[in-house]
Amino acid sequence: MPHVIERAASGRAKCRGCGERIGAAELRFGERVPNPYAEDEGETTHWFHLACAAFRRPEPFLETLTTRPEAIEGRAAWEHEAELGRTHRRLPRVSTAERAASGRAACRSCREAIAKGAWRISLVYDEDGRFVPSGFIHVRCARSYLETIEVMARLKHFSPALGDADLAEIQAELEAAGPDQ
Ligand SMILES: [Zn+2]
Ligand SMILES: [Zn+2]
Repeated sequence: MPHVIERAASGRAKCRGCGERIGAAELRFGERVPNPYAEDEGETTHWFHLACAAFRRPEPFLETLTTRPEAIEGRAAWEHEAELGRTHRRLPRVSTAERAASGRAACRSCREAIAKGAWRISLVYDEDGRFVPSGFIHVRCARSYLETIEVMARLKHFSPALGDADLAEIQAELEAAGPDQ
């Protein structure tokens, strides 16, 4: 069966992208994948908030969005974010922004230690639909690692607790590395 965008019939499904529940009647994206527990038969569906699908699964999400000509709230924004993720291959791995809790992690871009208290971006790896933690980069290394600094929408989405002052600091560090080319 093809992937779907539909209204959630109940509020029971959890989003694969963020782990939170998807509210009843909210639009959601369902990615059909082979059922790992049934050898030759059957599919299972991975559910996502539309935002989480745009950020984490850009290709199947865009493919499905084109089959839905009707008005979808936030459509232009999700389309834009998914396009960014499709053209910048590492962007869907971006998860949260946070201050480093210790100085032990090394940046996956420059390989230097991320100082305690410094802003870092956490990355996830898509392991058959399970998004597992896979290290960090300095916020200032976003430009070289991701090949774009257009990451604020996803950082805000996955780190809803960040305040305006935090976001301003992160934006300044992103821009310090130079503009997109
Ligand atoms: Zn979600
Ligand atoms: Zn770095």
